[in-house]
Amino acid sequence: MKSFHKELWFEVPTRRAFINITPQVEKCLADSGIKEGLLLCNAMHITASVFINDDESGLHHDYDVWLEKLAPHEPVAQYRHNGYEDNADAHLKRQVMGREVVVAVTEGKLHFGTWEQIFYGEFDGRRRKRVLVKIIGE
Ligand code: ZN
Repeated sequence: MKSFHKELWFEVPTRRAFINITPQVEKCLADSGIKEGLLLCNAMHITASVFINDDESGLHHDYDVWLEKLAPHEPVAQYRHNGYEDNADAHLKRQVMGREVVVAVTEGKLHFGTWEQIFYGEFDGRRRKRVLVKIIGE
């Protein structure tokens, strides 16, 4: 069995953003040489997510509005977590949007469903953060 891993780095200039990282993940898969197996992709920070959905700007706007209704950033004093930081909402948003995705690798490609793409969801940006890609197989 072959194994490959790589950390992808991001520094989002805004507090929140959704970034399509499918090209970077596909590059990892190509570099791994693995044709059949499983690919794990996870955020390595507790205020960021990795998830799969459609690359459609209206949907991303809808996510942002929905997440702000569920866990508004302001007022920051509403959260017990906020002491030295002001990112309690980012922890909650990350929980809803998820930590990781697993994608089957078939014939050297990510075996996506229709319109599926991999996204990095940032909820407390303006700092360097990592995403892990781990691939195992043959
Ligand atoms: Zn925190």
